[in-house]
Amino acid sequence: MSKVLIIGAGGVGGVVVHKCAQLAEVFDEIVLASRTESKCKAIAAQLSRPIKTAQVDADNVEELTALLKAEKPDLVVNVALPYQDLHIMDACLNAGIDYLDTANYEPPEEAKFEYSWQWAYQEKFEKAGLTALLGSGFDPGVTNVYTAYLRKHYLDEIHELDIIDCNAGDHGQPFATNFNPEINIREVTAKGRYWKNGEWCETPPLTVNQSYDFPAGIGPKNIYLMYHEELESITKHFPEIKRARFWMTFSDNYLKHLEVLQNVGMTRIDPVDYNGTEVIPLQFLKSVLPDPGSLGPLTKGKTCIGCVAKGIKDGQEKIYYIYNICDHEECYAEVQSQAISYTTGVPAMIGAKMILENKWKRPGVWNMEQFDPDPFMDDLNQYGLPWQVVELDSTGLIS
Ligand code: NDP
Repeated sequence: MSKVLIIGAGGVGGVVVHKCAQLAEVFDEIVLASRTESKCKAIAAQLSRPIKTAQVDADNVEELTALLKAEKPDLVVNVALPYQDLHIMDACLNAGIDYLDTANYEPPEEAKFEYSWQWAYQEKFEKAGLTALLGSGFDPGVTNVYTAYLRKHYLDEIHELDIIDCNAGDHGQPFATNFNPEINIREVTAKGRYWKNGEWCETPPLTVNQSYDFPAGIGPKNIYLMYHEELESITKHFPEIKRARFWMTFSDNYLKHLEVLQNVGMTRIDPVDYNGTEVIPLQFLKSVLPDPGSLGPLTKGKTCIGCVAKGIKDGQEKIYYIYNICDHEECYAEVQSQAISYTTGVPAMIGAKMILENKWKRPGVWNMEQFDPDPFMDDLNQYGLPWQVVELDSTGLIS
């Protein structure tokens, strides 16, 4: 029986609250805190059991520390934005509370994706006897656990890893992002980067692509090479990996809009002067794009996110594909959110459950692949994200 304090009342926060509320035997007390408390109250009103809400600016460490000391939760689940990660970790250290997030820290003024800032907290959390679990969403998150699971049960060594994120859903809007538009566009417009023979190789944004034939009736889609943060931790923790890449599907329509927005300067993250007011174009763009939450009732189709791993088992070369299929409309029927928020929020709840049940509780700062994957994989099957593993022949491998 534990108390959890969830920070962030956006698309992902809504799913985490719904899923924790369904599991009263683990999460018997829930507090939802965010910058705009009315959004917390709107989520609370969707639930069949009462939860507490609070207003907090998570960038104000003193204010957040006071809230944590007053509420005394067992764990903080951070599903605000990546900019808040370090402030929330500081407040957790001040108040002596375990920590979990779903995205690595990003400095607001630079789209830089790396774990260095959060890994630097290792000693502080260890000394305080507190657990910090980083990246407990789907990618990062489940993809890290999938890799650890294949390594534990299917392959003695992994040599090549391709993480493939396919959203075959359609929301019918001319242009919209499935999660926070600012975070999404910063990520997508960054240079591609992949791991090869012990070093990072860079590619211009979204220039490397190929077709991949997805299961469950989704069929062939174009996938684009991008950098994604789990590549950094997975290649660190499985140093035998010779090549690791991350791919994502984009529709031609999404790419056409993105190209125009970039060309006209609307994706810039540096301030520009507009009639004497400083405006960051990407933040302004966010304010005119559809709220990802509004896409929930509109989105139809499936997501398929998984890992293709090639390696050696008992001296033989083997290739396995492990993936989940999630249906946007089924997610909406269950928790009033589309599958992108759902596939992030469910693993955040399961990561929280792992810590609260002492299965993944260890002082320090950890990535998902550093713990035993088995209890997490069991819970994915039980709480809404069932997975399967198939063996591929060499023709199933991406080039
Ligand atoms: P949203 O923009 O929908 O929600 C973010 C929430 O955080 C909002 O409620 C916002 O408040 C709140 N917030 C922002 N700043 C502060 C602050 N200073 N103090 C308190 N609350 C604040 O984002 P999403 O729900 O789409 O994404 C949440 C997180 O999940 C992000 O970090 C994202 O990167 C991550 N993510 C991870 C994925 C994965 O697979 N690992 C996939 C998708 C997302 P307000 O309402 O006032 O703006």
